[in-house]
Amino acid sequence: MKHLLLVGGGHSHLAVLKSFGDTPAPGARLALLSPSGHAFYSGMVPGVVAGHYRPGDCRIDLAALAARAGARFLLDSAAGVDLAKREVTTARGERLHYDVLSLDIGSSAGDPSGAAERALRVRPVESFLAGWQRLRESARRGEIRRIAVVGGGAAGIEVLLAMRHGLAGVAAEFVLFSELPILAGHGARRRIARILGERGVTVHSGRKVVAAGKNGLGLDGGERFEAQAAVWAAGAYAPPWIAQSALATDARGFVAVSETLQSRSCPEIFAAGDVATVIGEPRPKSGVFAVRQGPVLARNLRRALAGEAPEPFRSPSRSLALISCGDRYAVASWGRFSLEGAWVWRWKDRIDRRFVERYRLGPGEG
Ligand SMILES: Cc1cc2nc3c(=O)[nH]c(=O)nc-3n(C[C@H](O)[C@H](O)[C@H](O)COP(=O)(O)OP(=O)(O)OC[C@H]3O[C@@H](n4cnc5c(N)ncnc54)[C@H](O)[C@@H]3O)c2cc1C
Repeated sequence: MKHLLLVGGGHSHLAVLKSFGDTPAPGARLALLSPSGHAFYSGMVPGVVAGHYRPGDCRIDLAALAARAGARFLLDSAAGVDLAKREVTTARGERLHYDVLSLDIGSSAGDPSGAAERALRVRPVESFLAGWQRLRESARRGEIRRIAVVGGGAAGIEVLLAMRHGLAGVAAEFVLFSELPILAGHGARRRIARILGERGVTVHSGRKVVAAGKNGLGLDGGERFEAQAAVWAAGAYAPPWIAQSALATDARGFVAVSETLQSRSCPEIFAAGDVATVIGEPRPKSGVFAVRQGPVLARNLRRALAGEAPEPFRSPSRSLALISCGDRYAVASWGRFSLEGAWVWRWKDRIDRRFVERYRLGPGEG
């Protein structure tokens, strides 16, 4: 009997659990290690903040998916991996044996320097949504006059515009800080800059934030910026235990994998989604790639269990980004091209709902 240990209920592992639930792998024992019984589809999170969806609309029952796949569900999180013994150590101190290990644990927002420690971070999604509810109530009581968002990528912009929509009628000012020009590399950056301007959002790009909290921001150079709430959506960071385990990593500490999604140093370890970097084909840390890697990962885990050669994952050099603008309006960006409109939002809404629906097992969820 071979042990397949899945760590994290990220977007790629949803496809793996679905696949093993549809077609069990003979001779394999599965386990899923996750700190939560639910997975959240991040593409719909700004819509929850804006008030278009309920949290349940973007929540997937991981424990139920695991049960359907015949996988033991372990409510805990990985804290290390012993490569020689083939064991994952958990935060509670358990040691879990594997023959084949698959990591899909995402990345964290907030850099290791601790700059984001006192800010409301957009990940993990569960705590972000709880924090957003508190922030919203506080703003409605008139305690918050200015909200600073750190991070000029798609997630920061979507969350800012969603909060603005969710607080319609409340006199709060929104300010966006970005170390790089906003949406660097996106075809939609001019449209988004225009939309932010039209909606009264002040953008400070080229400014590095070194501290953020309820008293505002500390900027590189010692300047302070007053705000009563700070939301952190900048960067994607790898958990330090990956590099500490001596697993091969890229320069930022993410698992270095080959195009088969296998670790470059330990072929019995697979990684997908944000936590993995395909060496030679680096792509932005985005849900689109995690979703695309899912089916290939599922097939390769089966092959590894059966002792067969894995297949390569071919990622497109460009991917479609659909950026929601708070109200039911969105911008589509593909390479240098971009489009916008209410119809783009409806298109995104259909794609997002279909994704979540694929992993729903029945009524009562949500
Ligand atoms: C607000 C927001 C909006 C976004 N919108 C989009 C979008 O529209 N399109 C897009 O392409 N990308 C979007 N992104 C980026 C996207 O969320 C990530 O790229 C994507 O979630 C990565 O998927 P993943 O499979 O790597 O991991 P995730 O989906 O992040 O899941 C990781 C899972 O691992 C679990 N985990 C974490 N640590 C451990 C551990 N130590 N042990 C066990 N389990 C662990 C977590 O609980 C979580 O369930 C958005 C991000 C945010 C924050």
